[in-house]
Amino acid sequence: MILLSKIVKSIQPSITLELNSKAIEMEKAGEDVVKLTAGEPDFITPKEIIENAYKAMLEGKTKYTDSAGIYELREKIANFINKSRGTDYNANNIVVSNGGKQALYNTLLALLNPGDEVILLDPAWVSYEAQIKLARGIPIHVPLKFKNNFIPKASDIKPYLSERTKAIIINSPNNPTGVVYSKETFLELYELIKDKNIYIISDEVYEKLVFEGEFFSPTQIDELREKTIIINAFSKTWSMTGWRVGYSVAPLTISKEIKKIQSHIASNINTPAQYGSLAAFDVDINYYINKFNERRKFVLNKMKESDLEYIYPKGAFYLFINISKYDNNDLNFANQLLKTKKLAVIPGSGFGAKGFIRISYATSTEMIEKGLNRLFEYVNGVK
Ligand code: GLU
Repeated sequence: MILLSKIVKSIQPSITLELNSKAIEMEKAGEDVVKLTAGEPDFITPKEIIENAYKAMLEGKTKYTDSAGIYELREKIANFINKSRGTDYNANNIVVSNGGKQALYNTLLALLNPGDEVILLDPAWVSYEAQIKLARGIPIHVPLKFKNNFIPKASDIKPYLSERTKAIIINSPNNPTGVVYSKETFLELYELIKDKNIYIISDEVYEKLVFEGEFFSPTQIDELREKTIIINAFSKTWSMTGWRVGYSVAPLTISKEIKKIQSHIASNINTPAQYGSLAAFDVDINYYINKFNERRKFVLNKMKESDLEYIYPKGAFYLFINISKYDNNDLNFANQLLKTKKLAVIPGSGFGAKGFIRISYATSTEMIEKGLNRLFEYVNGVK
């Protein structure tokens, strides 16, 4: 008899990636499917980045690097982080990893002892729970309130804290809701944990995609900086999902441990990808940001044609739609939508929020329009 890890058996594959692959297969089979699944920009990576990676390869930069990543890249990342947050991180606070996902996993491995609890604010991105479990921690789900736009309040979180709470994962701009937390939200959080040994893992991968209001990082509150680990990536801002370049920004004592983990798990990330990423900081990203905002406005305008409720998105590139009055079983809703209307979306249950679906609008307005028309046709048929 083969006895596999109980923990691995208890987790599901990433639903965002799985449904995306299913939709791609349908596309390949010649079906007219509309894919509003994975949060993946449809742009080609800016050519400066591609050229830099190519040039590096021709120059023989195809060997191992420092496990934490090449120094020049870590230095540039530290400057990028400091510029918008007023912090003073340096290259040693940074570990470059295979996407934000590995940065998060390294961080959890560095922080958790078996049985430590990690707070998740539902709806929460699909991989948080699985990663906590894989790191032998215990995910503690805090249900946030729809009436508060799923923005956390200290009173939501407080009842879920315990002696074993090791960290809270925060994600603003948020996937799947698109909300952006204000400074006040972080100040509340600070008051809640100031006397406790609890870390904040701040997933900031959508930081540049804020269309209303302002991005705020807990590292901007002096007292929180030593307790915060930032998770970030090049994927969304520079359309580099397939390059797998992410990083953690952590206090030196933690960063040292993260580097150690990285050295055993991956040695270093793909070397040409690191050199390519060096060029990212010279790319004018406003073109992309404006495009995403145009699409957001298009979605919001289009939603006026329906009476579906949703969370008003100020950042990232998702719309989280309440479909509970049509079908409280969002998995069934998403399956039927795909089967009957060939529209692929992500069911809210994947994020711990039943009765919702998430669409990604990181695609062309034509696709968004076609997709939303199909959604409206479907709900009108269901009504
Ligand atoms: N983060 C994106 C999403 O939520 C990409 C897929 C994934 O890694 O989950 O759709």
